[in-house]
Amino acid sequence: MENPVEPVIVAIDGPSGTGKSSTSRAVAARLGLSYLDTGAMYRAITWWMLGNGVAVDDPVAVADQAGKPVIVSGTDPGAPTITVDGVDVSVPIRSQEVTAAVSAVSAVPEVRARLVEMQRAAAAAPSAAAGIVVEGRDIGTTVLPDATVKVFLTASAEARAARRSVELKGAVTVADTQAALIRRDAADSGRKTSPLAKAADAIEVDTTELNLEQVVEHVVALVREKQPAAAPAAAAVEETTPR
Ligand code: C5P
Repeated sequence: MENPVEPVIVAIDGPSGTGKSSTSRAVAARLGLSYLDTGAMYRAITWWMLGNGVAVDDPVAVADQAGKPVIVSGTDPGAPTITVDGVDVSVPIRSQEVTAAVSAVSAVPEVRARLVEMQRAAAAAPSAAAGIVVEGRDIGTTVLPDATVKVFLTASAEARAARRSVELKGAVTVADTQAALIRRDAADSGRKTSPLAKAADAIEVDTTELNLEQVVEHVVALVREKQPAAAPAAAAVEETTPR
């Protein structure tokens, strides 16, 4: 039998507010690939811990419960979904309460081991036969070190905070948003197990001065350079600034 084209694996990492989600979804849609938001998975397990009275700042308590929630991610870039024990949690996982607790939960090795295994399974699933765009903090370094293309998105702290504030619809001041982002990135970069880090072979893209379409074009070009066969459908990008 003829060998099918190898799946395209695109790893997109970087700190919060650099446009990872919008970029990853649009790149996946444009190239006809699946899409996985690993941050949503860490948020989902955090949501479950908070709802079940687990002390999120106690790593032993979190580790003890890490195997319990059943987390399922839908990988269609047009309509990504996430459920915990069958409940749609796509809205509550974005709450301030979850955002404030997620770095502590995601630093627990048992949580990471479980979710990393699920992330690798999603990348290898038949539904992702054409390939997948996976976004997170440790995708290029740990989850999928053999990815076809690794991208590390960055942006100035000011640009990241301004984008997040737009998302939060002004509920929090830009200064408070910036302080919270810097705290979360410091926790994510400083943890022992697979911290936020740029893989040695990742291409860094500074999105400070770019709009979403420019970032998407750039990443799509990087993928096509590596794998010219991975170049079908063009889907419209609706937003104009990275998230
Ligand atoms: O991407 P997002 O901001 O939704 O991620 C939420 C949190 O999940 C991050 O701040 C980080 O603590 C954790 N995370 C992680 N590893 C990933 C993706 C997210 O630790 N691959």
